[in-house]
Amino acid sequence: MLIVQKFGGSSVGTPERIKRVAQKVVEDHRAGNKMVVVVSAMGDTTDELVSLMKEITSNPSEREVDMLLSTGEQVSISLLAMAIKELGCDAVSLTGGQAGVKTSNIHNKAKIKDIDATRLNTQLDLGKIVVVAGFQGVTPENEITTLGRGGSDTSAVALAVALNADLCEIYTDVDGVYTTDPRVVPEASKLKYVSHDEMLEFASLGAQILHPRSVELAKIYNIPIAVRSSFDFSKEGTIVQEVSKMEKELVVSGVAHDDNAARIGLYDVPDKPGIASAIFRSLAAKNIDVDMIIQSAVRNKVNDISFTIARDDLRKALSVVEEIQEKIGFSRYAHDEDVSKVSIIGSGMVSNPGVAATMFEALAGEGVNIEMITTSEIKVSCVVKSKQANQAVKAIHRKFELDAIE
Ligand code: ADP
Ligand code: ASP
Ligand code: MG
Repeated sequence: MLIVQKFGGSSVGTPERIKRVAQKVVEDHRAGNKMVVVVSAMGDTTDELVSLMKEITSNPSEREVDMLLSTGEQVSISLLAMAIKELGCDAVSLTGGQAGVKTSNIHNKAKIKDIDATRLNTQLDLGKIVVVAGFQGVTPENEITTLGRGGSDTSAVALAVALNADLCEIYTDVDGVYTTDPRVVPEASKLKYVSHDEMLEFASLGAQILHPRSVELAKIYNIPIAVRSSFDFSKEGTIVQEVSKMEKELVVSGVAHDDNAARIGLYDVPDKPGIASAIFRSLAAKNIDVDMIIQSAVRNKVNDISFTIARDDLRKALSVVEEIQEKIGFSRYAHDEDVSKVSIIGSGMVSNPGVAATMFEALAGEGVNIEMITTSEIKVSCVVKSKQANQAVKAIHRKFELDAIE
């Protein structure tokens, strides 16, 4: 079999852990498998690099951010390749660019466009274990890019697609996908299976366990992903896959929260055609993803528009808003960076009325005010104050009795 395994930051956080990962990889290699191993930067390295950068500048060039952040993974791939060699197996470490990972040229959130697997295949055919730096690639001009925080999962799935791998395993610091973040709710239940669609919602709504784009890729190419513990290799984990068409028993399969949110409000926006498109086109031109959008009822030919974005994009978004204020003609704007998004996910909710009401009751019971709401067929999201987010997650998890599922 050809197996792609990915080990996250905490899984390679110390030399001892790197040695344990090496042992696992070598064991699977000796069992007769071709192995491609994707790793993240050690422990909190990426956060530390970001802090270092902030000591130098609050306005770095996006190209230099990528030069800096991509170094974290280069440390862990070389150390893991050395650890594997110590165990008597041949290994080679490759940066994203060396592994043929070609991306778009949008720094800090580049998308993988193509993988030229020639070099990977040559090394595999030579019997080597190939260790690839996650989270990075190169543009057609050979500039280093990164894929956005948490992007190593996407590197792993993309490699699994390009190599037509038999198995894609994501090893992390929890032993699977739970009904909610087990760090927030220790009573959360582990899901044995979760569909690509539900996992995509979980990931997009802030469950950091898998990078949303990794799930998107797995869904498009119909690849199952196994999420497993790097601390206990004997545990089974969760399989993300297309589930059978049988009716689902769970109406709500989980709760997610995203603390990386910020809200911007524009007040007294002229109520006429073309205004919303002008506002959101200007944000899109700066690669700012807008999440929720709410427009209030019109009064005297003006209304208010609120929207949420990733907190990391706040500075960039505010400068766009300031730039367009005069042209669009809104009277003022404000922002709130202490908001979080709390969501419920479940493919069963579309045919079960009252699910949203139950969620709102759970929040009301805790005195949590809802600032914005959006819904789709398989999710309901509410924006709340960040300091109440964990309390909200716990209350919703309890209300839907998610700690009691087998
Ligand atoms: P890695 O460094 O291995 O990529 P991450 O920190 O990115 O690991 O993701 C794993 C973390 O995701 C867990 O430690 C857990 O706190 C968090 N998490 C959030 N939601 C969930 C969930 N529904 N199930 C499991 N883990 C979750
Ligand atoms: N090291 C990167 C990060 O911390 C990528 C990853 O871990 O997936 O975001
Ligand atoms: Mg991660």
